[in-house]
Amino acid sequence: MSNDSSDSSHSKEVLVGELFCCTRCGFCCQGETTVSLNEDDQKRMLAALAISREEAEKQYWRVTGSTVQMKTVDGHCIFYRRHGCEIHHARPTRCAQWPLIEQLGDPDNFAIISSSCPGLNKSLPHALFCRYFDCRNKSGQR
Ligand code: SF4
Ligand code: SF4
Repeated sequence: MSNDSSDSSHSKEVLVGELFCCTRCGFCCQGETTVSLNEDDQKRMLAALAISREEAEKQYWRVTGSTVQMKTVDGHCIFYRRHGCEIHHARPTRCAQWPLIEQLGDPDNFAIISSSCPGLNKSLPHALFCRYFDCRNKSGQR
């Protein structure tokens, strides 16, 4: 019997390292358009900072209705420092996934994202990135 799931997770592991290696340039943490936090992100961040929701909303989060986003300061995410993300261990899911997001499968998006993220291995064909997403979807991971 074949071992499809472990094979595909192994090839995914190999592919991630080939496709992307963060240079910690911090570009994706810049700008006033900020990242949103899902429920799990919010809980993880509160636990990591050991603060109350009220305190997080006052200091770190921008809350609009049911949407919670990181605040920005001086044109970058409030947790961005010169050495990188100050809350790396508890960063939002969207930050952890970046830039290997589903939209990268679209050639136009790939061109835009790869032009701003030096960590993406641009010497590889776009098809390899698409293969990565296929493997990831088949294994049910995000
Ligand atoms: S833009 Fe890319 S390489 Fe730079 S910090 Fe963000 S993910 Fe890493
Ligand atoms: S939480 Fe960290 S990784 Fe995410 S945008 Fe802010 S500084 Fe960057």
